[in-house]
Amino acid sequence: MPVLEIIQLGHPLLRSSAQLVDNIQDQNIQNLIDNLIATVGQANGVGIAAPQVAESYQLFIVASRPNLRYPNAPTMQPTAMINPQVLAHSSEVVKGWEGCLSIPEIRGYVPRYEAIEIEYTDRNGKLQKQELTDFVARIFQHEYDHLNGIVFLDRLESTHDIITEQEYQKRIVGT
Ligand code: ZN
Repeated sequence: MPVLEIIQLGHPLLRSSAQLVDNIQDQNIQNLIDNLIATVGQANGVGIAAPQVAESYQLFIVASRPNLRYPNAPTMQPTAMINPQVLAHSSEVVKGWEGCLSIPEIRGYVPRYEAIEIEYTDRNGKLQKQELTDFVARIFQHEYDHLNGIVFLDRLESTHDIITEQEYQKRIVGT
């Protein structure tokens, strides 16, 4: 499966709203899902949104697993979430470190809802409802933002919450 080119901050599609997927069974959409899963795996990511490969659809992959960029991530099957919605969220907000394949070499300490109730259509066209918590809830919120042209930098409380990848590896992963 081909690994797709990931567009970088500055590309206008990262600042655009994505369109709904109306035909999930379309071969182009199914191929896009397979290629996104291959791409996020190869890039050591835990999630990727279709707009990041210049396909402006409301579709992303959540693929949490421990890897070089996120050694403490929980393991799950890569899951395609299509036309996702946030139905409800906790009042509690927690800060955690995030990076982005479209914003290389930096990390931010980003506030996110601790728990969310979500709904999406899976790649077989079935509506799924789930409650997500902690790191997986964080991934969902990060990817969901990409569908609306928002990146994690927009969510920071302070520019002091940005550090380089090198310092992150030294100070955060190492501790
Ligand atoms: Zn991202």
